[in-house]
Amino acid sequence: MGLLSEGSPLTWEETKRHAEHVRKHGIKQFITQYKKLKQRTRDVLYWGDEVEYMLVKFDHSKKKTQLCLKAQDVLGALVRRQTKDYPATWHPEYADYMVEGTPGKPYGCLMAHFNLVERNMKLRREEIQSLLEPNEEAMSITVFPRLGCPNFTLPSFEPTPTSGSSRSLFFPDEAINSGHPRFRTLTRNIRERRGEKVIINVPVYKDINTEDPFIEDFSALGDDGEAQRAAKPDNIYMDCMGFGMGNSCLQVTFQACNIDEARLLYDQLTTLCPMLLALSAASPIYRGHLADIEARWTVIAQGVDDRTKEERGLEPLKENKFRINKSRYDSIDSYLSPGGCCYNDIEMVYDKDLYKQLRDEGVDELLSRHLAHLFIRDPISLFSEKIDQNDDEDTDHFENIQSTNWQTMRFKPPPPNSDIGWRVEFRPMEVQLTDFENAAYVVFIVLLTRVILTFKLNFLIPISKVDENMKTASKRDAVRQGRFYFRKDVVTDCSPPEAAECMVNCEKTPCKCIADEYTLMSIDEIINGKGDFVGLMSLMNKYMDSVETDVDTRCTVLQYLQLISKRASGELMTTARWIRELVNNHPDYKHDSVVSDSIAYDLLSKCAAFSRESTDVPELLFSYSTKSADTIPLAVSKAQEYYHEKSKKK
Ligand code: GLU
Ligand code: MG
Repeated sequence: MGLLSEGSPLTWEETKRHAEHVRKHGIKQFITQYKKLKQRTRDVLYWGDEVEYMLVKFDHSKKKTQLCLKAQDVLGALVRRQTKDYPATWHPEYADYMVEGTPGKPYGCLMAHFNLVERNMKLRREEIQSLLEPNEEAMSITVFPRLGCPNFTLPSFEPTPTSGSSRSLFFPDEAINSGHPRFRTLTRNIRERRGEKVIINVPVYKDINTEDPFIEDFSALGDDGEAQRAAKPDNIYMDCMGFGMGNSCLQVTFQACNIDEARLLYDQLTTLCPMLLALSAASPIYRGHLADIEARWTVIAQGVDDRTKEERGLEPLKENKFRINKSRYDSIDSYLSPGGCCYNDIEMVYDKDLYKQLRDEGVDELLSRHLAHLFIRDPISLFSEKIDQNDDEDTDHFENIQSTNWQTMRFKPPPPNSDIGWRVEFRPMEVQLTDFENAAYVVFIVLLTRVILTFKLNFLIPISKVDENMKTASKRDAVRQGRFYFRKDVVTDCSPPEAAECMVNCEKTPCKCIADEYTLMSIDEIINGKGDFVGLMSLMNKYMDSVETDVDTRCTVLQYLQLISKRASGELMTTARWIRELVNNHPDYKHDSVVSDSIAYDLLSKCAAFSRESTDVPELLFSYSTKSADTIPLAVSKAQEYYHEKSKKK
């Protein structure tokens, strides 16, 4: 979930005193690295996925599931197993029931690498599973359905509404990662900075027996009135960071060949975040209730919203500098590539002094604004040993702010003194139950980057429309019911205009024609095409036909594409829709929106069996036969060496 500095965490009051210092030096550190690395080029495509798992305990006699707070032991054991050629890397995550796994080394530019993903994911799942007890399961679920319900953890703990980091009525601090102080510090500082507990409201799904209006009474949990005031009628109310960051996702990071390509892909993929959120939607249940949304996005956004009342526009600005229109976790506010500037139609809040500092040092307009925008935030965790840094070498202050801007996309400069290049991270997707599905979504995105570059595709629409699409994407059954803004024509026959030229044009004629460039479409139309609109699938298939691929890889990739295509058309369900229908048809479900322990137990049992591939779920997935490889064939690795040599010489 971000930077893990060692040391003693400061209190919020102390951190606040150093906020200006962190920002000033963070920007300096960026500028130093930027100057060193902006010309870096000819890097090859490297990429990798991140999967976040939850550890779930099944009590078969009581028909109850709980989250096991043993991630630290499991992580310790996993890390001890790591050797030089070990196929996975392990990372701590927000909760003590979460573990994150990535491939041991990144994949590269060969088509054959697409055929390693699923096998590697399977290995990771098996590795975690091998350290668990017989009734425990490593599960790739996005949200634990009973998160925040009484005794949802094992061992179970009472929440502490008047003390500790979260002060939640529902979520005990013991469920937060106990291995590194960062996570509890972030939780406390977000609450203290905001001046009250965070408020998460998610519309409840109003079923025939759901109370009307749906208003819960929190007095028995020790509420002093704060929760009752914050909870909106007809909403599921939650009150701490754990309800957000205690959820899992599926992310992809890739290295571009240089900074320009990274900026271009950052922009192009931004427009697809809402569609991929909707296609991967897997979370219709929060705190034991069916919701009217199906994706975690807004829950995390509200769960880490550290803005004060002034910043949220509820009080006049006195202590704070800016009114800020979004949480630290949200969709991005601006495109970064030259062609993107005409589509930046959101009023962007940014720090004018930092912006000037960046411009004076030769950083261009768009990038300066992007950074000065990220840097309107305060650091929310700081370690005493890290306050004074060498800005020529260190990047901790930069990373501090960068890694607590949890946005749909992240633009990542190369780390200092490494052979890693400019990278882009794609962050919206929800995690799927099986390795096949997760591999399919990851491969879809990486392959799409190749297709965008090869065919010079252009998906840009005004960034305000991407925001509207994000809202649509979270709604119930967004894939089938939602209409998304999308470009009518994505195939361009020219490269994007040069930055200077574009800026001048934008100022002269403020892009009148842009409104004609896009229209509302369903996800099915966007992915599978309709009428004049080709659809992404046909472009991807065209690309597949144009590249040389071994038979196994081709067969695997085509099945991945088929999954995305069938999810888009509604022929296969999203995980969220399937979960909703299971609850709806469960004999214990009283049509009152409540997902009881026994319903959650049956639901998670089905999920576990499906993940282990011991049962088929034809509503979610066709029967497939991938020959996902363990290692790349010798002939292919020779070809890769050759490719690397060639690209170095070029
Ligand atoms: N778990 C978070 C999510 O679902 C992301 C945390 C991270 O950045 O690794 O979006
Ligand atoms: Mg993570």
